[in-house]
Amino acid sequence: MALTGLEIYKLLPRTNCGDCGSPTCLAFAMKLSAKQANLDSCPYVSEAGKAALGAASRPPIRLTAIGTGDKLVELGNETVLFRHEDTFVHETALALLVREDDPKHAERLSAIARLRFERVGNPLRLNLVALRETSGKPDSFAAFAAQAAETTGRALMLWSDSPDCLRAALERVGGEKPLLYPAGENNLSALVELSKRYGSPLGLRAQGPEKLAALAEKAAAAGAEDIILDPASADLAQAVRDQTIIRRRAIRDHFRPLGYPTLAFAVGPDPFAAALDASVLASKYASLLVADFSAPEFLFPLLTARQNIYTNPQKPIQVEPKLYRIGEAGQASPVLVTTNFSLTYFTVTAEMEASKVPAYLLCVDTEGTSVLTAWAADKFNAEKIAKAIETAGLTGLVGHKTLVLPGYVAVLSGKVEDESGWKVLVGPKEASGIPKFLKTSYKALAESSI
Ligand code: SF4
Repeated sequence: MALTGLEIYKLLPRTNCGDCGSPTCLAFAMKLSAKQANLDSCPYVSEAGKAALGAASRPPIRLTAIGTGDKLVELGNETVLFRHEDTFVHETALALLVREDDPKHAERLSAIARLRFERVGNPLRLNLVALRETSGKPDSFAAFAAQAAETTGRALMLWSDSPDCLRAALERVGGEKPLLYPAGENNLSALVELSKRYGSPLGLRAQGPEKLAALAEKAAAAGAEDIILDPASADLAQAVRDQTIIRRRAIRDHFRPLGYPTLAFAVGPDPFAAALDASVLASKYASLLVADFSAPEFLFPLLTARQNIYTNPQKPIQVEPKLYRIGEAGQASPVLVTTNFSLTYFTVTAEMEASKVPAYLLCVDTEGTSVLTAWAADKFNAEKIAKAIETAGLTGLVGHKTLVLPGYVAVLSGKVEDESGWKVLVGPKEASGIPKFLKTSYKALAESSI
């Protein structure tokens, strides 16, 4: 039975040293009880205390790793059902499927290696390659796995019904700790042994959460530690139901046999439909998603959706608040002001570059919020803008004192002028209006305002 915060507190050192990141042992105990912290964060718990705390200190969904080094993919450690409760810890890992019998599999592996995506300054990673064995020949599958490990730079999922093929592949790539899949009633003991020998995580497959829980208990009793659950869902609706039940049972009920990361598939002849399935499953609640589409026009929207789901809602993505020089900006160049919300920064910068008018962009620290949000929260105000002008040393950098404010906060113009001593021009409301503004309006407005 789960321990209460006070019961956990009695088993902690009670010195309130703060080394665990919580100000007091009681605060840490409360986090442990809510499964929002890991006992390992306190280096001073006695062995007796650790034993007594046991399951109470483990996160409801076990942290599981696939791969090593640069290819490492971590799954699990989640503590909440909904994003508004707290952040999701590990984003859904994406595995691209490559079949051994695909006559172009070498080209496909090379193409995967070349796939690179970036959005608002952050790389969007494709995490794994899922290798589907089709030959029934251990040597052939082992060579395929070795080729994928060498070519793609991604962690591996080895997918075969043949323990001999998995064993042969592990002899070549076992050091990379690939995921072994699928383990079921028939091959469980053979795959658990391989998993233990190579330290590889094990993907369990059974029809629905109930059978999966029974299989997971057997695997754990046989010594498997890192487990990933595939409920073998028949279609998307069933997959969402299964994934939700597993997540809810693990987090709300602390039901250990389902307290592992999950696996789901987004495959089929229509890549558009598969990409839509994938975006749904990334929301609810696949830890690892195997997809068979690899065209950038399907992957990029999916990765963008994933980035938005797994961004901490309490910490917007932001850029460093400072002055940015766009092009060969000099003494006479315009100075535009905005916030340090990443999406705003990259949108505005792209339009400024497109204008081909060298200029400066002053990003005010608004804790990563957008212009209107920051203005409404009084984080983008005259005082902050004046302070940012001063900190950036703008007065010595340009030979004028004219500033362009975003059109949405034209209301701030007078106060900014009073506070900073700079003349304010009201720029366009939308970033898309910046090229025209810089090319045709700025000069005349700046001259008429002198
Ligand atoms: Fe208490 Fe351990 Fe945290 Fe120190 S590190 S405050 S002893 S729980």
